[in-house]
Amino acid sequence: MMTGTQDLKRGMILTAGPSVTSTEVDLVLEAVTQGWNARHSEFIKEFQCEFAKYIDVKYAMCTSSCTGALHLAFASLGLKAGDEVLIPENTWVASGVAPTYVGAKPVFVDIEQDTWCMSPESVLKHITPRTKAIVPVHLYGHPCDMDKIMEIARQYKMLVIEDAAPSVGAQWKGRRTGSFGDISAFSFQGAKIMVSGEGGMFCTNDEKVYKKAQYLNDYAVDTNKSFWIDEVGFKYRMSNLQAAMGIGQLRRVEELVERKRQIFKWYEERLRECSEFYLTTERPNARNIYWMSSLVFNEDAKIDREQFRAQLKEKMVDSRPFFFPMSSLPVFENQSKSNPVAYSIAKRGMNLPSGHNLRETDIDYVCEAIHSVLGKRFSRSSRIMQQPTSILMTLKNQAAKKPLNSVENQKFFLVPVTYQSVKDENLISDYTNWRNEQLKIFKDETLTTKISTENWLLKNVLDNKDRILFEVANEAGERKGFLGLQNIALDETSCELDALVGPHLLNEEDRRNFILLLLNWIRTELKIHTVYFRVFDDCGDLIRLYESIGFKEIQRVPVKKCKQNSQTEWKEVVSDPFRKVSRYLVTYQRV
Ligand SMILES: *Cc1c(COP(=O)(O)O)cnc(C)c1O
Repeated sequence: MMTGTQDLKRGMILTAGPSVTSTEVDLVLEAVTQGWNARHSEFIKEFQCEFAKYIDVKYAMCTSSCTGALHLAFASLGLKAGDEVLIPENTWVASGVAPTYVGAKPVFVDIEQDTWCMSPESVLKHITPRTKAIVPVHLYGHPCDMDKIMEIARQYKMLVIEDAAPSVGAQWKGRRTGSFGDISAFSFQGAKIMVSGEGGMFCTNDEKVYKKAQYLNDYAVDTNKSFWIDEVGFKYRMSNLQAAMGIGQLRRVEELVERKRQIFKWYEERLRECSEFYLTTERPNARNIYWMSSLVFNEDAKIDREQFRAQLKEKMVDSRPFFFPMSSLPVFENQSKSNPVAYSIAKRGMNLPSGHNLRETDIDYVCEAIHSVLGKRFSRSSRIMQQPTSILMTLKNQAAKKPLNSVENQKFFLVPVTYQSVKDENLISDYTNWRNEQLKIFKDETLTTKISTENWLLKNVLDNKDRILFEVANEAGERKGFLGLQNIALDETSCELDALVGPHLLNEEDRRNFILLLLNWIRTELKIHTVYFRVFDDCGDLIRLYESIGFKEIQRVPVKKCKQNSQTEWKEVVSDPFRKVSRYLVTYQRV
């Protein structure tokens, strides 16, 4: 659907890129056409409410950016000139400058070697009588050690403002980041894990703080007197349109997190034996969302990171350097520069391509490029080639070991057809006979033979990454039909159902049940939400069956019968408006 995929003629592989599906498109379309007047803030309210529930905080307020939310955080907590705020050295500049918007002074603290997040030990070293707040940043999606940070804050009576910008979905001991501090701020800017174009969220459990922030975010307009203003306020509001997009992304957030985790796993499988660097970690109490998969060169590796990045770029692989230590930036020139871990890691770390649109083959390519720049031959041969080459292959293997069965009525099993099953003569002849009996529903109307079935199974199904075929068996293990998937596009989260072969052996209720069983598997295991089915308009039984389980017509094309030698095929009629059309091929969609 809408998700950008890497071109075959490979363009630059970028570091970020969102996943956008019809869920978001439909919501934004509704917002842009109807989200005005009486409904002008409907999507904003829903987004706030759902986000608060997701993070598990009492209040959430949409903002135009995380930076805006941070400014509102410092302002609504009353921080001011003379106050000091502890910020990790390695973060995006937004966390560093936000305290200065209210006149407070950022004081930079060191980071940890493995998580690259704020070090609690270093926090302790930087506390002075003027320190009023700590800003833990869940960098690149790894949660900070929130036990230690909250304990220090309690002990020294400091406020905690979490910069949770890149960490939607991350957890520390099972609690979501953004639910620990007095206030937290998230970002939905275009490179983040959840996007709304630009956007952010201000979260808190404190009603007073929430009310104050709302008031300040509305120019500090007097709540009892329209257009009356007592103090300097701001306007960091999010639009209804962006909120609609945010709702769509939030509905898919677990899928978005899983994808990021999968991307990291692919990197890890291919890079963990490289001794020149170490990769992003996940502490025992942490759930990292791997917003950015990253690596840090070892000190003794003697690799110039910038040269390395330039060489990768020549191979069309983009990357990002780690953030500069805040105190090294001219904007913070009067700061002490004494955080050694931060300074050292900032020179050695880089973020790898981590966009949602990346496929496993893209990660293969990136890792091949990394190996080649390091002067190694890519060791694909040894480990990686033995591994299934795609999620689908893994699932094919899994399913082959353990057939899917329907939980509720235990009546049917879907058993994937494997290379082994092609040797089963009965299976081949069942498939051949059943398909020939229902020739009329296939685009290719030629009679099949056992040999052509066998060839088709091997070449078109088993060797094909985008296709899987199941036998449908009943409780007694008797084969009752075949049902398959094709055009499986995991990155676009869509696939097509093959026509049922042998369905006349079963009543309608049974057919419905095992199709639903398969649809459920598609949704939970393949994470596919859009399923297509194509059928001729004169196949009334099938149409009724599919319509009864939620398929809706989305397109119909005229077809004509083409005979060539012994082959008969129905082909789409293109640019031939005067041809008399006898039949249509109709596409149904289920979302
Ligand atoms: C992206 C990011 C921000 C800024 O978010 P915006 O929505 O662009 O203002 C702040 N802090 C960190 C750590 C970030 O990664």
